[in-house]
Amino acid sequence: MEYTGISAASGYALGPAFLLQDQQIKVAKSEVPKEQLNSEIQRFEEALGKAAQELEGIKERTRQTIGPEEAEIFSAHIMVLQDPEYSGAIKEMIRSEERNAEWAVQVVTDNFLELFASMDNAYIRERAADLRDVSNRLLRHLLGISTQSLTEITEKVILFAYDLTPSDTAQLDRDKVVGFVTNIGGRTSHSAIMARSMEIPAVVGMQGMVEKIKAGDFVIVDGSEGKVFVNPAEDLIHLYKEKQISYEVQRLELKKLVSQRSITSDGHKVELVANIGNPQDALVAVTNGAEGIGLYRTEFLYMGRQELPSEEEQFEAYKAVTVMFGKEHPVVIRSLDIGGDKALPYLDMPKEMNPFLGYRAIRLCLDRTDIFRTQLRAILRASAYGNIKLMYPMIATLEELRGANKVLEVVKQELLAEEIDFNKDMEVGIMVEIPAVAVMADRFAKEVDFFSIGTNDLIQYTMAADRTNETVSYLYQPLNLAVLRLIGGVIEAAHKEGKRVAMCGEMAGDLTALPILLGLGLDEFSMSASSVLPARALVRQLSWEKARTIAEAVLKMDNPLEIESFVKQEMQRIT
Ligand code: PEP
Ligand code: MG
Repeated sequence: MEYTGISAASGYALGPAFLLQDQQIKVAKSEVPKEQLNSEIQRFEEALGKAAQELEGIKERTRQTIGPEEAEIFSAHIMVLQDPEYSGAIKEMIRSEERNAEWAVQVVTDNFLELFASMDNAYIRERAADLRDVSNRLLRHLLGISTQSLTEITEKVILFAYDLTPSDTAQLDRDKVVGFVTNIGGRTSHSAIMARSMEIPAVVGMQGMVEKIKAGDFVIVDGSEGKVFVNPAEDLIHLYKEKQISYEVQRLELKKLVSQRSITSDGHKVELVANIGNPQDALVAVTNGAEGIGLYRTEFLYMGRQELPSEEEQFEAYKAVTVMFGKEHPVVIRSLDIGGDKALPYLDMPKEMNPFLGYRAIRLCLDRTDIFRTQLRAILRASAYGNIKLMYPMIATLEELRGANKVLEVVKQELLAEEIDFNKDMEVGIMVEIPAVAVMADRFAKEVDFFSIGTNDLIQYTMAADRTNETVSYLYQPLNLAVLRLIGGVIEAAHKEGKRVAMCGEMAGDLTALPILLGLGLDEFSMSASSVLPARALVRQLSWEKARTIAEAVLKMDNPLEIESFVKQEMQRIT
């Protein structure tokens, strides 16, 4: 039997199914006499403390064994634990209902989960797994149940679970769990993110799968295509064993390209750089052969904490990355892009009907110039140590660009007066992620040093399709002609002014889009570190001339599926 879900991590795995039992913790409801309510609350607080301590330990282990970005997932759990809205509601329930702590934890958690489930936002729905994970941990401490583990697994298996919490995923033994499949989740759910960095082939969002599978069934997981085959025929097993071998060979082969240049077969050079969220990611970028950083998402420095990061803290973080890449390789630092789906609880931002169209990024920075100036000071100071470029996000009008530059000028004057060193010629560019800017690119090109096209947002605004809403994901079309025309227009306008154009949206690392973008004249491709080497391999196989013919042909088509299959066919001829 063949089933289809969402590809979470590519690669192939074959083996027997292991069913992770649904470990629902049973909770009894009991009355607590008034005089014992304080000690019941204290018991809850102790469990809270133990859970937080345990999470700190898991976080540290994850940081060491998997990576810093994945470890941050547990910072998010610690934040949920320490969120006064959550723990406050539990304490309030113990007191007002005069009931035991376990019952209060369960009721409050269920209320939150119900609220999450009703939200029309895939990202929030996926965060439900985090909350369930945190509440189970709390309940285990309250009930004295030892930590649930996956230690029963003694042979190589494919793990099937309704959902895998991030801490389940962190505990997976990569030598035993060769693949996993879950009923729920999407590409941005934490377990999917972790599967990608642990390189465990995984398929998620496979509704009803756990109910269909039996322990010991022989299974093939095709993480690349998002497919699962249960008890397949011998010839399919044979085919997938071959696919598995060539996948591994290909990965090893790619490693040879780490220090090669990104140059087409007819000598056209492009830059393949990486997107990062923190200094640790920069190391991964280096080991994957990135030629610089095309997008440093600085908002991660501001998240998962209680107050704004200081100038000094930011300076250290920016300097660390810049030093790693030296004077040769550029590091594009994007000023704060908060808002949309990225909130800062401590900033007390207004609740909005349409956060993606609301008070975010440069709009907030031009309003809260105190925050903006601190960041600009830190970026300028770090610019003395390498090749930093500054980039403003979510620019919609020329006035915003000029306003941001005015603040930058004030900060520069301050530093000059204080005799603090910085790069006086630091380049300043903008993200092109609002269609208004793409349309007006000729005017903007006169006032910036470079553009970086943010397709993640540009596509959602062009197609009016929320990038986090899976219900309208069919409209989220990178290869829609409207999107391609906007991109082509931006590149042309910039080149007329002698300015370079980068792309830092996910589309830049998409191997089907790459030949088109190359043909349209894109100068720099910024992507997740793991995409750099596959992209380099493709660039080196292609001629620029061929890419331009592909782009020209594609601009005459109007159906994204037709465009996709045309490019794939053309690529097959070359590779
Ligand atoms: C984009 O919008 O394409 C982009 C790179 O920025 P973010 O994904 O952070 O919104
Ligand atoms: Mg964006």
